[in-house]
Amino acid sequence: MNLKTELRENYIKILENVQKACEKSGRKIEEIKILGASKKQSPEKIKIIFELGVKMFGENYVQEAEKKILELKNFPIEWHFIGRLQTNKVKKALGLFSMIQTLDRINLAQEIQKQAEKRDLRIPVLIEINIGKELTKGGVDPEKLEEFIEEIKKFDRIKIKGLMCLPPYEENPEKTRPYFAKMREIFEKIKPYMDSEFRELSMGTSNDYTIAIEEGATIIRIGEALFGKRI
Ligand SMILES: *Cc1c(COP(=O)(O)O)cnc(C)c1O
Repeated sequence: MNLKTELRENYIKILENVQKACEKSGRKIEEIKILGASKKQSPEKIKIIFELGVKMFGENYVQEAEKKILELKNFPIEWHFIGRLQTNKVKKALGLFSMIQTLDRINLAQEIQKQAEKRDLRIPVLIEINIGKELTKGGVDPEKLEEFIEEIKKFDRIKIKGLMCLPPYEENPEKTRPYFAKMREIFEKIKPYMDSEFRELSMGTSNDYTIAIEEGATIIRIGEALFGKRI
């Protein structure tokens, strides 16, 4: 099968599943944004998927992203950073991405504030939650979220647009449902204390995006189910 046909079939399958998950949970399909998780995927594939209708892509590594974003500069793609961001990469990242989905540390916020001031920008971010409390993963401990947000609110160059998580991998996607439900609960709990820009819940990957939608996701981040296997 040629590449375009293969990617189109992947995309159509995803749209069908999104549709079903929306029907099942009484949501509107327009509420869901598909982000192509394009780490280790070629610019050629990104182009094709963009033409199919995916306007948002997420990258995990600043250096890898820089090359691709430059190569794809004529495409009006909305690039999000979804990896672990080191403070020494913030300066470069702010020139490449329109959203940082993985804010999880005060020192990272400090650096974003500093670099954003220099460029006279306000930076949209999501706060990453370590919903499975995994030692190997980034993200704010859910118990410390309120305290964390109070600190972040002091940085006037940072716009908190919502929350993001990457729960522990489960073979059976049903097992991730409690994590997504918990995210939604946290989201609803803090929403009254946030401004109207706070509305995104970024959760769900290839394996579990339908469950994430049923539990309230507004951005699903799909890699291999959309692009095929990473190289
Ligand atoms: C790689 C990645 C994804 C996509 O994972 P797939 O299993 O390929 O769908 C989503 N979110 C983050 C943060 C990732 O690093």
